[in-house]
Amino acid sequence: MVNDVVVVGAGPVGLLLAAELRLVGVDVTVIERAAARSPHSKALTLHPRSLEVLAMRGLAEPFVRAGVPVPTGHYGGLPVRLDFSVLDTRFPYTLVLPQLRTERLLEERLRALGGEIRRRHRALEVRQDADGAEVDVAGPDGTYTLRTAWVVGCDGAGSAVRTSAGIDFPGTRATTTGILGDVVLDAPPSVPSVDNEYGGFLIVPLADGHHRVAGSTRESRTIPADRPLTFEELRGHVRQVAGTDFGMRAPRWLSRFGNAARQAARYRDGRVLLAGDAAHMHMPMGGQGLNVGLQDAFNLGWKLAAVCQGRAPDGLLDTYHAERHPVGAALLENTQAQTVLGATYTPDARALRSVFGRLLAAHPAVNRQFAGELSALDVAYPADGADGAADRLTGTRPADRLTGTRAPDLGLDGAPEPSLYPLLADGRFVLLRLGPDGDTGREPADALATAAAIAGGPDRIRAVTARPTTTHDGWAGPRTVLVRPDGHVAWDTALSTK
Ligand SMILES: Cc1cc2nc3c(=O)[nH]c(=O)nc-3n(C[C@H](O)[C@H](O)[C@H](O)COP(=O)(O)OP(=O)(O)OC[C@H]3O[C@@H](n4cnc5c(N)ncnc54)[C@H](O)[C@@H]3O)c2cc1C
Repeated sequence: MVNDVVVVGAGPVGLLLAAELRLVGVDVTVIERAAARSPHSKALTLHPRSLEVLAMRGLAEPFVRAGVPVPTGHYGGLPVRLDFSVLDTRFPYTLVLPQLRTERLLEERLRALGGEIRRRHRALEVRQDADGAEVDVAGPDGTYTLRTAWVVGCDGAGSAVRTSAGIDFPGTRATTTGILGDVVLDAPPSVPSVDNEYGGFLIVPLADGHHRVAGSTRESRTIPADRPLTFEELRGHVRQVAGTDFGMRAPRWLSRFGNAARQAARYRDGRVLLAGDAAHMHMPMGGQGLNVGLQDAFNLGWKLAAVCQGRAPDGLLDTYHAERHPVGAALLENTQAQTVLGATYTPDARALRSVFGRLLAAHPAVNRQFAGELSALDVAYPADGADGAADRLTGTRPADRLTGTRAPDLGLDGAPEPSLYPLLADGRFVLLRLGPDGDTGREPADALATAAAIAGGPDRIRAVTARPTTTHDGWAGPRTVLVRPDGHVAWDTALSTK
């Protein structure tokens, strides 16, 4: 059997990637070793950029309906929280939504697009040659081999695909651990976090009457992540810090996690690609891993589809590593910094926490900086674009150019949709011609040809002439902008007003 793509792992990242490939008709097989989805949700958050990404495919609404919007996020568990309401987005908040619900909604999306998941099928080994790749799979009826053009490892931090492809995973081993319990609290605290010189805990209400209690103490942080956590142990540690266990009972899930921080040296090796936790692992600080993984999948999906369908040279896939590896490196760095701030209880670390908290409270620019990083709204790719064509055509990004930056959900008058994101729903590029009166007369003569070269053909572009109805940094003035299927600007040109 020959597939275009085999996706290994039906976690959130594999599900979104497979859906993106199906959206444009790519033949994809998803294999998943587990018989059923885990009932326990590691992640609890969707951040603004993830919600924007979902909005670009018309999917945000059911997620927002199922979750609880909270206008703040935590940074290193500091009592001063990040204020997301200052962000320029339709989603200026953290959406509290258990991973289980996120995965269910993504699986519904994949199934609606005709995708299927082979559960209880485990990838054992991956091999590649000049024409394709093979995946050895252990299924319920025995072992078999899948022949495919491309393999994507979305199989989590212990990725068999990564190991089998010989891709290094350098970084640091765990030196500290955290503990968590999903429990009922009969007397929950009025504040979302408690901390002192013994330890610190975040206490997050879940929609179903449970609370997530997560943190560590001086003693608990030295216990290895593979030692099972008992309810009595969790209760004792919380009491030590808070002086009470908040009437804790009925534990549903107890777990320990560590701060090993590792990143794949290459996100692509020939016909093998990695996304999500298979590409980066870190301490879960700031609720980011799932979010960055979804954004990896969104970056990779349209590129892999274009290469599979012969619309782009396979070099386009190298831009996946070039664009997303730096984002993963920044993720490791900020979670390591947050671990020192939030999970270290020495006098020095507590002094750092106090100074940092004061900075955050006193300076809106510090809040804006970290909110921009955690929300992923500030991610911008190099101006040389996603296919090298933009490099030749536009060179590096001058200050007034948008190439590589995130496109906001620009309000539009005169377009078939009221704003940009719904125009991206079918996964094509959008060529926006923006002027006060829809006048494109000053556009360079080769603009459409340039856009078609980048997009892989004129049929891959939806061209729209409209007048902006919202204002965003850098978007003033008449211009022609080519927006990629993942909502980053592929190319733009300001139109002369003379
Ligand atoms: C305690 C904790 C709290 C967290 N909180 C947050 C949060 O609030 N926000 C956030 O954004 N992130 C959070 N994260 C991180 C988040 O859970 C992960 O980043 C996310 O699950 C990664 O998704 P993924 O699809 O890459 O990998 P996974 O979710 O690990 O999915 C991988 C899938 O691949 C399957 N698989 C593995 N090996 C094979 C194989 N050989 N063959 C076939 N299938 C295979 C697995 O069964 C699994 O279904 C948290 C993590 C932890 C531990």
